Amino acid sequence: MTDETPTPHLPPDGLRRFATIWCRAVYPATATSMTKREFESLLLALSERLAIALRAQPFDPSPGVSVGEALVTAHCTAPEALPRVLGVIDAYLLLYCADLTVLGQDEGRSRCARLQHAIAAGFARALQERTRSEQESLSVAALTAQTEIANALHESETRFRAVFRDAALGIGIADINGDIIDTNESFARMMGGIGLPTRRRNVLDWTHPDDSPEVWRLQRELMRGEREHYQVEKPYSRSDGTVLWTNLTVSLLRDAEGEPRYMLAMMEDVSERRLLNLRLRYQATHDALTDLPNRSMFFERLEQALAAGSPQSRVGLCYLDLDGFKAVNDSLGHAVGDQLLIAVAERLQSCASEPGQMLARIGGDEFVALVIDPPTADSVAELARRALAALATPVTVGDRELMVRASIGVVEGPTRNLTSAEVLRSADITMYRAKAEGGNRYALADPDSDARAISRHHLTHHLPAALKGCEFFIEYQPLVRMEDGSLEGAEALVRWSHPRHGVLGPDRFIPLAEHTGLIVPLGRWVLQEAVRQACKWQVRGIGGPRPLRVNVNLSPRQLHHPELVEDTVAVLEEAGLPPSALCLEVTETAMIRADENELRPLRELAELGVGIALDDFGTGYSNLANLRRLPANTLKLDRSFTQGLQRDPADPVDLKIVEGIVSLAHALRLSVTVEGVETSTQAEQLRDLGCDSAQGWFYARPGPPERLPEAV
Ligand code: C2E
Ligand code: MG
Ligand code: MG
Repeated sequence: MTDETPTPHLPPDGLRRFATIWCRAVYPATATSMTKREFESLLLALSERLAIALRAQPFDPSPGVSVGEALVTAHCTAPEALPRVLGVIDAYLLLYCADLTVLGQDEGRSRCARLQHAIAAGFARALQERTRSEQESLSVAALTAQTEIANALHESETRFRAVFRDAALGIGIADINGDIIDTNESFARMMGGIGLPTRRRNVLDWTHPDDSPEVWRLQRELMRGEREHYQVEKPYSRSDGTVLWTNLTVSLLRDAEGEPRYMLAMMEDVSERRLLNLRLRYQATHDALTDLPNRSMFFERLEQALAAGSPQSRVGLCYLDLDGFKAVNDSLGHAVGDQLLIAVAERLQSCASEPGQMLARIGGDEFVALVIDPPTADSVAELARRALAALATPVTVGDRELMVRASIGVVEGPTRNLTSAEVLRSADITMYRAKAEGGNRYALADPDSDARAISRHHLTHHLPAALKGCEFFIEYQPLVRMEDGSLEGAEALVRWSHPRHGVLGPDRFIPLAEHTGLIVPLGRWVLQEAVRQACKWQVRGIGGPRPLRVNVNLSPRQLHHPELVEDTVAVLEEAGLPPSALCLEVTETAMIRADENELRPLRELAELGVGIALDDFGTGYSNLANLRRLPANTLKLDRSFTQGLQRDPADPVDLKIVEGIVSLAHALRLSVTVEGVETSTQAEQLRDLGCDSAQGWFYARPGPPERLPEAV
């Protein structure tokens, strides 16, 4: 018979009921991994064992021992577990598991008590046994762990030693007072030049005169335990005079209580890298030809001076540009040019060698002397005078004696509210003034001429972007036939719609565009636009049976442009406009000055049928006889002549002059257009004098192309 099989005499329901009560009381005091159901079925088996023992004849309490052991095995070991087990048995075992009618009340109680003792004994022994074996396995585990720790420590110590010994980094360990405890070989090698043993020294012994106070602040913070590590680039001076530059990392090591104990310093020798950096920096900040500081270093210094200056501090600048250096370069070659620049650099250097002065080469033949806090306002001008004097004696290059001349712009003033770009621009503008006044001199910056030049400078600077950004537009001013007041054509007049300054007239920017050469692309654009517009008018039949003509102004520079004829023809062909519908206006001054070669393109265009007008006639004091050789077919009489005709009665002298010019022009087969007609009196008189066409506010002001048809 197995323990699990209840005997037929037992009341199975009572047994199960007992097991349930037992489980409910004891399960919370177990640390078993069994579920409550599993635990209850274990208790059911144990209950059977107890029930059988209770009834057995003769009575034997020893199954109680095995029940106690089984409870320990099931982790029913919390301190309150045994009292609860015994309590349940005491209260319910006899009730549910014994047949007291057979056993008798007293015998039942006695057997129950003995079973409880047996359970308690089994429980205690098993618990003792388990505690002992747990202790044993714990101490085995601890022993193993200890050995492992010792091994690991040993290993890590060996590893650390190896790293420490063989590292290329210099490593040193010091106590918290900075007394050196140990250093590796690299450390000794790096510091070797110091000549003293590195042990028994204190880290503070190596204070370098160039150490920044910042380094020692970090070091003190680390010693006090206020920081864990720091990294700095720092020099050490060796006793042989050489300097060791290191990249130093110092870390704090604390003991188990967290108190600062040691400092670990690791240093990398960066002396060579530093040298290389210095060399690279030198190259980046110096001019290779003259060895002078270059543009970027000059700006760096100037910006420092401007930023660091107190409200009283001042700065001075001599901006020097050689006169005619391009000619030397072009005619004698770059090698000679270079020699000349070297000689100039040396001479200028000798003039600006005092503390607070710096000479830089900032461009091809441009030098600048910077004076920080000049002692007097005149001392900067004095420097300019010295520089001119230093250049006065000719420079010998090979077997040649070269004359050197220079123009200098001098700026001197308080640093506050100034940017480096403004200072340099002012010096640059002033230098150009010195050049315009004949060169070989210096000029002093003056706010008024600066302002004018700055606005010119600004416009010139923005012209190219304006052309790309389509900021230009054209207005058209009608040209009217005097005989019948009909529309003959229109003059294209360009304007710049400047984003900041509003609409600018051509007088503001045409001279600048002419000066910079941008007039060529700008002029081509005007020509294209105007020709395209003339086509539109033709297509719409504006101007009646005789097609409208468009007049386009040509500047002297365009006149000399080699592709003038080609460009013009291409523009006409592309638009499909007949050449006779275009008239190019060239000022009298430009045309009179042109020699036969320069007139040839105009002649070619005239032969193709393009009209050529002599613009602003009368302002050029030209010999009238000269008109004969010019390829023009129209003469545009300048406004100044017609002004005298505004009065009523008109100035008789002006009348005579205009009459004379008109008849001469007609004799030369030139038609005459008058400019600046502002009143009806003028218009009538000019018609009476035989002028062919007219232009002026009396007829219409320049306006957008769509206004042209209604203009007359
Ligand atoms: P311009 O060719 O002699 O043009 C005539 C100028 O006289 C225009 O000035 C026009 O607005 C002005 N004007 C016309 N009628 C009257 C009038 O009744 N009274 C007065 N007081 N003025 C009148 P704007 O437009 O300022 O042009 C000035 C000059 O700029 C032009 O003189 C021309 O030489 C030049 N220009 C204009 N557009 C261009 C261009 O596309 N290319 C070139 N190279 N020069 C241009
Ligand atoms: Mg004109
Ligand atoms: Mg004109």
